[in-house]
Amino acid sequence: MRKPFIAGNWKMYKTVSEAVHMVEELKTLLDDNNSVEVAICPPFTSLAVVGELLRGSSIKLGAQNLYWQKEGAYTGEVSPLMLADLGVDYCIIGHSERRAYFGETNEDVNRKVQAALAQGLGVIMCVGETLDQRRSGQTYAVVKTQVEQGLAGISVSETEKLVVAYEPVWAIGTGETATGEDANAVITYIRKTLADVMGSEQALATRIQYGGSVKPANIKDIMSQPEIDGVLVGGASLDAASFAKIVGY
Ligand code: PEP
Repeated sequence: MRKPFIAGNWKMYKTVSEAVHMVEELKTLLDDNNSVEVAICPPFTSLAVVGELLRGSSIKLGAQNLYWQKEGAYTGEVSPLMLADLGVDYCIIGHSERRAYFGETNEDVNRKVQAALAQGLGVIMCVGETLDQRRSGQTYAVVKTQVEQGLAGISVSETEKLVVAYEPVWAIGTGETATGEDANAVITYIRKTLADVMGSEQALATRIQYGGSVKPANIKDIMSQPEIDGVLVGGASLDAASFAKIVGY
C-alpha cells in the first residue's frame, strides 16, 4: 500500500523570517494526519531553522537540490552529507527549472540521485515533457529516457526511498493542469518503465506524484486517480491555508 505523499516546493521564495512564520501557521493548520505524508522544501537558507521548528511534528523536511560530492572545492554547492546532517528527509532532484535554467542533464540527475540515496536521503526525482515535446507526441519517450537515465546503475535495494514526480513542464506555474486522467496515463507508463528498471515489486511500491499547478480546486480530481500517489506543489504551497487545503483533500 503506497502512502499518499504531498510535498511543497517553495522554490526561491521566503526569507528566514517568512519561512518561520509560514511553518508556525502550517503547524496550527495541519493536524497529525498519519494517512498522508507531508513535506515542505524551503530554500537552503531556511532549512536549519525550519528543521528545528518541525522537530517533533510529522511534517518532513526537504531540500530542492544538492551536489553529488560529499565535500570538496565546489564553491556554492551543498552536499548530501550536509543535508543529512541537518536532518533533511528528502531532496528534490531534476526539477524542470534546474534542467532548463541550470543545464542539468539526465546524467547530472543520475549522479545526484545516486549520491542522495547513498547518503540515506529520500529523493523526489522529477521528470516531465515540455509543451513542444507533448505537441510532437514525445511525452512517453521523454519520461522513459528521464527515468531510465536518472536511475541508471542504481540497485533495487537503494530505491526504497525513491519517489518520482511527474511534472509536465507546460503545467508548472502556468495555471494549466494535466487532467487527472491524462496524468494518470503517463504515471501508469512511468510505473511500467520503473518495473523494467527495478522489477515490478519495487515499481509497485514506489510512489509517483503529479506536479503542475496543483491547487485546492483540482486536488480531488488528481488524488482520485488510481496511479497517482500524491502531489508536488509549487505556487500553492507558499500559502499556508491553500497548502493545508491540498493536504486535507
Ligand atoms: C513545482 O514547482 O514543482 C510545481 C509543480 O509548481 P506549480 O505547482 O507552481 O506549478
